[in-house]
Amino acid sequence: MRLTICWLYARTMNIYGDRGNVLALVERCRRRGIETEVVEIGVGELLEPGRCDLFFWGGGQDREQIAAAEDLQGPKGEVLRAEIERGVPLLAVCGGYQLLGRFYRPHEGPELPGLGVFDAWTVAGSQRMIGNVVVDSPDFGEVVGFENHSGRTFLGPRARPLGTVRIGYGNNGKDRTEGCRYHNAIGTYLHGPVLPKNPQLTDHLIACALTLHGWVGSLEPLDDALARVAHEEAVERARVERQALRRFWLLTRR
Ligand code: GLN
Repeated sequence: MRLTICWLYARTMNIYGDRGNVLALVERCRRRGIETEVVEIGVGELLEPGRCDLFFWGGGQDREQIAAAEDLQGPKGEVLRAEIERGVPLLAVCGGYQLLGRFYRPHEGPELPGLGVFDAWTVAGSQRMIGNVVVDSPDFGEVVGFENHSGRTFLGPRARPLGTVRIGYGNNGKDRTEGCRYHNAIGTYLHGPVLPKNPQLTDHLIACALTLHGWVGSLEPLDDALARVAHEEAVERARVERQALRRFWLLTRR
């Protein structure tokens, strides 16, 4: 079996270690004897229907988002939307996630149109939300990552969050939701990169891609000892960070 992983805007939207997500997908396929091909699809480059078995779209600053938003207006965006409707799995982090909602309104400049895959919209806030995050997901259990965004994402009535924030800000720092899911597409604010620390998420995306090829069954378990250490370390960091923040608030409120 061979999977084609299409990396959207790899050279312009790839911050806070997001490249590691592609490496995690390739590695967990390799360890199961699944061949992979990574195809970078940048601004102005063709997106052919049926070519991709899995999409990854990383985070980026506002200026890179402008180019990506424009690039997806028209046929290319329609192909991506149709692929997601067909059930092709996708992981989009932060800036990529924002542009799969209805729109992203940055601090300055015009509102950027999104693809509207997620029933969600994002408005840049005055304060950046930065730190280690722990999310409780009904489908994936405890998910950890690192966030750094000013965008506040709000979910519409049809949206399904990835999970509930236990530690950190998540979508908007208010409603305790994190991320959004639609079909096999997952949007999240979790950088880190998120996949190496959350193998259950990586395997879900791989299984969805294989299923599109008629594969049935469950993936062979792998030795995830290292991933577990990284995961637990991230949870501990988030916990210590929260304690320090609480002490800071208590001291500064006096
Ligand atoms: N520019 C967006 C924001 O600040 C996305 C940032 C990112 O991808 N980390 O919210």
